[in-house]
Amino acid sequence: MSKQFKILKPGDYFIARNAGVQTVPEARCEHGQAALFLVLFGRRRSQTENADQRLHVLMPRCVMAEAIGALQAQILHAEGESALQEFLDEIATHAADSTKDIEQLHAQGRDCCEAGFRTNGSEHTCGRNEAGQ
Ligand SMILES: [Zn+2]
Repeated sequence: MSKQFKILKPGDYFIARNAGVQTVPEARCEHGQAALFLVLFGRRRSQTENADQRLHVLMPRCVMAEAIGALQAQILHAEGESALQEFLDEIATHAADSTKDIEQLHAQGRDCCEAGFRTNGSEHTCGRNEAGQ
C-alpha cells in the first residue's frame, strides 16, 4: 500500500456549489509544474446568512492529480468501470469546451492581463499593445 488511508469525519462542511480554476505559472512545485488557483463558491453548513462565500485555494498541481486519481479509484471500486468512464468523458467534454473558451479569449486579447480582460482587449497593463501584438 503506497498511501496512508484515513477515515475522515468532516465537521462543518464548506459546501461548494461552483468552482473555478486557473494555473499559476509564478508558483511551481518541486516537479516544476505550475500550481493551480482554485476558487470555490459556496457556504459552510453552519452559515446562517444567505450569501455565498469564495474560498481561495493555492494548490500544487501534483496534489490535485493525486486527489483526482484517488477519486477515480474510488469511483471504479464503488460504482464500476462504466461510472468511471462517464466521469472521464465528462472531464473531456469540459476540457474541450474550456479549450474553445480560452482560444476565444486569446483571439479577443483578453487572456494576458486584467486590463485586457476587462476592456475586451482594448487596454493592457502587460505591454501587449506596445509590443505590437
Ligand atoms: Zn494584456
